[in-house]
Amino acid sequence: RRVVDRLNSAGCPTFSVEFFPPRDEQDEAILWRSIRELEPLDPAYMSITYGAGGSSREGTIRNIARVATDTTLVPMAHLTAVNHSVSQLRNVIGHFAAVGVHNILALRGDPPGDVMGEWVAHPEGLNYAEELVRLIRELGDFCVGVSAFPYGHPRSADLETDTHYLVRKLRAGADFAIAQLFFEAEDFLRLRDRVSAAGSDALMLPGIMPLTTPRTLHKTIELSGATPPRWLLERLEPLSDDPKAFRAEGLNVITELCERLLAEGVPELHFYTFNRSKATRELVDRLGLRSPEPQLALAGRP
Ligand code: FAD
Repeated sequence: RRVVDRLNSAGCPTFSVEFFPPRDEQDEAILWRSIRELEPLDPAYMSITYGAGGSSREGTIRNIARVATDTTLVPMAHLTAVNHSVSQLRNVIGHFAAVGVHNILALRGDPPGDVMGEWVAHPEGLNYAEELVRLIRELGDFCVGVSAFPYGHPRSADLETDTHYLVRKLRAGADFAIAQLFFEAEDFLRLRDRVSAAGSDALMLPGIMPLTTPRTLHKTIELSGATPPRWLLERLEPLSDDPKAFRAEGLNVITELCERLLAEGVPELHFYTFNRSKATRELVDRLGLRSPEPQLALAGRP
């Protein structure tokens, strides 16, 4: 099943979930417990990120294949151009198709070790995500997603240039874009407006991090590449030493953000799970999010 078809035919706001490849056996057991806990809710899709090194990449490839064969979930694999020749990329993409993964998030990736270090393409590889989108399209009937940055990609000179290349990447054959983390609904909505003003009608989906711990807040600040608003720090920082209170207020902040996005017609929320399911299940319940095919999800429940 193609992600974009599920999203376009969903009659109600829906959600998706993102995991990362497990580091060891214990991690893998936690990942699979979370996957099984989320499966009955039938998210629009579930994705696994793609790391820079061999064992982590192998973890993505093995686990996304298992999702395709052993679960009812719709899998989407992330793939980056880092340290891959075109022929290696072709192999990975071919493998995804062979195991039943027909949705790919096409990314350039960051230089390993230093996000802002100098980007060096593999001598027989690709330079930009746009080229990876074309390669995936050439190789089969995949549904392709790309990344987008509400505050602009950290390497982009300005928002205009950033939007220009984002729209080129979408036109190269992407069906939708997932936005990097942001703090206020307006930050995402302005990105959506920029893309639409530039003439693209591709679906724009917001990335959402459930703020359950100070670590998730720091990660959000780091990934967004922006300065957090004062109101957010004033609401959460005083609770840093009180895990229960932080979690409760963090989930309130995220619920308010999601409600505002849904009120603006956003069709789908993409949750970063940190390989745990509880906070996502709580938010899905609070926000009344559904499977894109509600009857199927109910039928699948024990
Ligand atoms: P690109 O779209 O190639 O853009 C990179 C920069 O080059 C931008 O500044 C862009 O404006 C510019 N640019 C693009 N095309 C051109 C051109 N033709 N000429 C000149 N300049 C151009 N990283 C991982 O390693 N693994 C993951 O699984 C992963 N998942 C992610 C998921 C999401 C939703 C997001 C938002 C990010 C994810 N990342 C992941 C991080 C991502 O790989 C990095 O942010 C990376 O720096 C940019 O990748 P990109 O695909 O956006 O690059």
